[in-house]
Amino acid sequence: MSKTIKQIRRDLDSKKYSAEELTKEYLNRIKEKDDKIHAFLDVFKDDAIEEAKKADNRIKKGEAGILTGIPCAIKDNILIEGRKCTAGSKMLENYVSPYDAFVIKKLKDEGAIFLGKTNLDEFAMGSTTENSYFGPTKNPYDLKRVPGGSSGGSAAALAGDMCAFSLGSDTGGSIRQPASFCNVVGFKPTYGTISRNGLIAFASSLDQIGCFTNNVEDAKTLFNVLSQKDDADSTNVNFEKEDIDFDMNRVKLGVPKEYFDQGLDVEVKEAVLNAIQKYKDMGAQIVEVSLPHFKYALSCYYIIATAEASANLARFDGIRYGLMEEGDTLDDIYINTRTKGFGDEVKKRIMLGTYVLSSGYYDAYYKKALKARSLIKKDFEEVFKEVDALLGPVSPVLPFKIGEKTDNVLSVYLADIYTTPINLAGLPAISVPLKLSKEGLPIGLHIIAPRFNEYKLFNIASII
Ligand code: GLN
Repeated sequence: MSKTIKQIRRDLDSKKYSAEELTKEYLNRIKEKDDKIHAFLDVFKDDAIEEAKKADNRIKKGEAGILTGIPCAIKDNILIEGRKCTAGSKMLENYVSPYDAFVIKKLKDEGAIFLGKTNLDEFAMGSTTENSYFGPTKNPYDLKRVPGGSSGGSAAALAGDMCAFSLGSDTGGSIRQPASFCNVVGFKPTYGTISRNGLIAFASSLDQIGCFTNNVEDAKTLFNVLSQKDDADSTNVNFEKEDIDFDMNRVKLGVPKEYFDQGLDVEVKEAVLNAIQKYKDMGAQIVEVSLPHFKYALSCYYIIATAEASANLARFDGIRYGLMEEGDTLDDIYINTRTKGFGDEVKKRIMLGTYVLSSGYYDAYYKKALKARSLIKKDFEEVFKEVDALLGPVSPVLPFKIGEKTDNVLSVYLADIYTTPINLAGLPAISVPLKLSKEGLPIGLHIIAPRFNEYKLFNIASII
C-alpha cells in the first residue's frame, strides 16, 4: 500500500523507521521495478542516502520541516543544480543544470529527498511519453500501455510506489492526464501561483508546475510549500491562502453539457456520471452548465502552444545550450544541431508555431486563437458566477497501447479536449482516481475551480 506524505511524516517523527531506511526501500523498489517501467531517467542512489542521513539528523534535533525525509521524484524538465536536465531530448542529453528551480529550492528547504529525474515526452510535447528520446515509460497498471504524458515518468514513478510524491508540469494536461491513466492524484494549480523559474519552458503562458500525490491532502501540503512569491518569475503572484468552511450541502457543482458528446469512452462516461451522482447523494447541488466556446479550445491550444514553443525553443541553436553539431557556417551549425537534436514531434511543432506567427498568417491563426482564448476564459468566468466548481472527465479515452497511435497523432491531440481549455483559462484543476475499467485500466475525475480557489478544489476533491 502506497504511503502518503502525512503517514510518512508521522512514522518518521515517531521513529517507526528512519529516513535512511525509507529511502533505501524506495531505491530498492526502483531497482526491482524500473527496468520494466522506465519511469526514471536518472536515479541519485548514493546522494539520496546521504540526504536521508541528514534528514534523520534534522528529525533527531526536532528541526524537521513538513517534508524532511520524504523521498520524491522530479520531472526531467525541472532544474536541480549539478544534475542533468534532459527535457527528454537529445538536444540536452548532457546538459547539467547550473542552478535549482524555485520549486527545488523550496523542497530542499523542507528537507525532501530527491530520488531521481523522471521521463517525459521531449520538451513536454505529447501525451504518452513515447516522444521521449530515451524511450517510452510503461503504465504500471498494464505494461503494454502508456502512462500518459507528458509527465508520464512522474505519474508512473508514484503509481509504481517508487517515490512518495513527484513533480510534473502541465501545459495542456500533462499532469492531470497521466494521473488519470496511472490512478494517482494529479494537481495543476492556478497559472502564476507556483514559480516557473527553473522549468524548461514549452509554452510560457500555459506552463504550470504541479504535483502527483497519493491523496488530495498531500497535494494541498505541496501546494502550500511551493506556492510562494518568487520575483524571478514575473507572472508569479502572491495570494492569501485561506482555509474555508466547507459544507457539502452548500456546494453547487456544474456539469458542462459539452463534455458528454461523441468520442467519450462508455466506461469513462459511466464512471464520471456515477461520481456526479455520488456528489449529489452527499448533498451537493448539481446543475448543467454550458461552455459555448469549448469546441474551439483544442485548436486554439495547438496554435498558441506551438507559437510559444517555436519562440522558446529558438534558444537551442547549438551555441548557447546543450548539443552542438559542427558546420562550415553559423547557419550550418544551426541546421545541423537542430536536425540532429530535436525529435519529429518537436520539429513539427516548431514549424507549425513559426507558420502561425509568420506575416500573412499571424492574423488568420495566432491572433484569432488569442481572441478565441478570451472567449473560452469568459465562458468559465460566466459559469463560475453560478457554480463552485465543474466536474467532468480528464481523458475521453482509456490509456492507449504503446505504439497504437504512432500513425495517428491527431487522435492523440484530440484526447486533450478536456484538459487544454483549463490551461487556456489559467484555472486550477485536479484529477482524482475513480475506479478501474473492466480491463483494469484507471479512470480519473476532473474537478475544475475558479482561479485562486485551490482550497475549495481540495475540499471538493477530497470528498470523492
Ligand atoms: N498533450 C499536450 C501536448 O502535447 C499537453 C502537454 C503538456 O501539458 N505539457 O501539447
